[in-house]
Amino acid sequence: MKEDNLRDISNEIFSNHNDESNNSLTQIPPEILELICDYLCPKDLFSLTLVCKHLRSFLWSFTSSMTQQIWHNARIKLSIVGEYKGIPPPPEGIMSEQQYIWLIHLVDACQFCGNKRRGASKIYWPFKMYSCVNCIDSRILSNESAKQKGVSYTVFDVLPHIVLYRNNNGSNFDSKLDRYCLKSEALETQKEYEGIVNFEERIKWIEMKKRHQLMINDKLVQYTLREESKIQRIWREEYRSRFGFDVNC
Ligand SMILES: [Zn+2]
Repeated sequence: MKEDNLRDISNEIFSNHNDESNNSLTQIPPEILELICDYLCPKDLFSLTLVCKHLRSFLWSFTSSMTQQIWHNARIKLSIVGEYKGIPPPPEGIMSEQQYIWLIHLVDACQFCGNKRRGASKIYWPFKMYSCVNCIDSRILSNESAKQKGVSYTVFDVLPHIVLYRNNNGSNFDSKLDRYCLKSEALETQKEYEGIVNFEERIKWIEMKKRHQLMINDKLVQYTLREESKIQRIWREEYRSRFGFDVNC
């Protein structure tokens, strides 16, 4: 049945193929589009989002259960091959199927500078970003530098953060483990916080943000560990191919 439907639709699309052929794509009912998408892998789905506005808004919908199901099915297909074997589902309530697949499979270059060097970029789960070290460094703030920009500790404390071993003044003797948040998010959240005039409302807002952040941290632990072990594996492979023997790291 599925195949019959697909053949009919496919015939219709290609028999009407002309300069305005994109119109026929916009006329496909969502149910039929769903059947077609069921045959596609994540990379093909992503290519389909580039075809026209209609398909882009259909496939990038974060609220449509049909669209979520399409990407979910594509992810399940992906999870039986190679390095994606046994990948966990996306952290519930934190990101959509599309965002998740984009991060773990589709993106292949730093999302800011486009550096494609293998192992140069990694996923920063709390920020939902795929970035090289230089680009992420120019976008994050330690608690100290956040304070200098007017971000209070109360606000800094409830922001999504990563933990890095860095120094703030260029001295190697001063390196330490520290929390870093996104600069843009810190400034925006500080502004939101200052917009709450009532003291009790502010306390409630902070408590709510804190609870939300703790829930996210809990859920992201397994994903962060998975990414770290993947980066280590890439470095080991590169080391082996360059020097001909393994390194323990
Ligand atoms: Zn970069």
